[in-house]
Amino acid sequence: MKISDMYKEDKTLLSFEVFPPKKTSPIESVYGALKELCSLKPAYISVTYGAGGTAADNTCAIAGRIKNDYKIETIAHITCVNSTKAEVERSLDSFKENNIDNVLALRGDRVPDVEPKTDFEYASELTEFIKKKGGFHIAGACYPEVHPEAKDEISDILNLKKKVDAGAEFLISQLFFDNKIFYDFEKRCRLAGIDVPVEAGIMPVVNKKQIQRMVSLCGASLPAKFSRIMNRYEHNPEALRDAGIAYAVDQCVDLIANGASGIHLYTMNNPYVARKITDAVSSLL
Ligand code: FAD
Repeated sequence: MKISDMYKEDKTLLSFEVFPPKKTSPIESVYGALKELCSLKPAYISVTYGAGGTAADNTCAIAGRIKNDYKIETIAHITCVNSTKAEVERSLDSFKENNIDNVLALRGDRVPDVEPKTDFEYASELTEFIKKKGGFHIAGACYPEVHPEAKDEISDILNLKKKVDAGAEFLISQLFFDNKIFYDFEKRCRLAGIDVPVEAGIMPVVNKKQIQRMVSLCGASLPAKFSRIMNRYEHNPEALRDAGIAYAVDQCVDLIANGASGIHLYTMNNPYVARKITDAVSSLL
């Protein structure tokens, strides 16, 4: 099913993100978590893709399992920074063979020690390429706090408009911890003529290492309320997990009440956390 059609119902979608296991672990190591996550019946589940193209086969296998075995709609991520057009075609063809027709078209980040490829520079070029090939519904990524490499806020939003004009039917946001940042970003999108649904990326933070890593990678700002919680419970794993879940639920309730198109939960393959949040908000959706 075309995911962008799901927004027509005018209610907030709850979707999940999962990632394939590291190269050193067998693919089966995520199947237990996957089964539990699917049993929560999210609107769809997205599956990440290694920027080096190394995890492409696993992305396809996991997304195929979600769709064909668990009958949950899926979207496979695909990156282009380290891929040739022929390699992208190969991944798209295997998505098709596995009945996957929604893709999240991404540039990806350069991977150290991987020879850079030059067929694509930006996600909008990949979007255009996939659109031209046909047979896929395409989504794109967006950054409420501005992409770290962007020259400034205005050029970032104008670049996002190019991606939407190239064929992105909806957008999924980078994680954020302050909803006001997301609402302001949505307004900038509308002012720039970007009128596709924007899903809010929510990351339930359940351990301190995770938050430090994510923030250093994506540059999300930490509101004082959030930092106080992290600092107070950093040495109490159970309390930190519960407080992280409560914080994410609070964000979700506010987003739903404000009519957000969707909430994309970065599950980190953790069904316990996803279940707690789903249970807390499902009656509101
Ligand atoms: P782009 O849209 O190409 O933007 C990248 C930068 O280039 C921005 O600063 C933008 O302003 C600028 N730009 C864009 N177009 C132009 C132009 N025409 N001229 C000049 N500048 C331009 N990474 C992975 O490796 N695998 C994943 O599975 C994955 N999943 C993700 C899912 C989500 C929801 C998000 C938000 C990110 C994900 N990422 C993933 C990370 C992503 O690959 C990186 O953030 C990457 O740096 C940018 O990708 P993009 O598709 O947003 O790039």
